Amino acid sequence: MRKKKQNQKTVFGWMNEYFAFIDEHPEKSKQMNEILELLVEIQRSQRSGRRDAGRIKRLQEIFRQYQWIREIIWDDGKPSERMTIKDSDDLVEYDFVHRLLVLANHYPDYLSNIRRCAGGCGMWIIARRKTVDRFCTAPGRNCRQNEYERDPKRIEQHRANMRRLYREWKDKNDRAKYRAAVERGFKGTLEQWRDNVKKTRKAKR
Ligand SMILES: [Zn+2]
Repeated sequence: MRKKKQNQKTVFGWMNEYFAFIDEHPEKSKQMNEILELLVEIQRSQRSGRRDAGRIKRLQEIFRQYQWIREIIWDDGKPSERMTIKDSDDLVEYDFVHRLLVLANHYPDYLSNIRRCAGGCGMWIIARRKTVDRFCTAPGRNCRQNEYERDPKRIEQHRANMRRLYREWKDKNDRAKYRAAVERGFKGTLEQWRDNVKKTRKAKR
């Protein structure tokens, strides 16, 4: 594990891998989940100018459990820092924490791009663009599509469209029937023809 600046694509790539892991292994990733919850809440408080001392303290307590060995190694004749973990049964968790620290160090702005999927599935995501990326892309889950279909405004819009289409269809249909009635000798306006249809329908009932 090297603590080096990595490009943005790599950062997003490995964050998404960890989020997929957390999603698939909720039991193994309780601590990772708590860290993310704390980070997101602290970021939210910071943005609104509050100081979240309790959460910051809790986060530091968690981070202190992880112990690292820092060394200088010579790679191609150049010195660089190498970080390894002291000992752990859980390499994934350590690596996750390590990378979060890299993120905080080199891309602090991205911390506030970490959020849960807006589709309600609970998965963590890291948004490339804050306002646009709101949903996970977990295969088979279709969170974006589900949200789209659940949105009350869209449901109302869809119903309004259906009503309009029905009215248009009915109007076209009436006009065709009216023309046919005129050909058969009906003398009157479209409105009169409509009234007649209504009357005969009532009489039939
Ligand atoms: Zn989702």
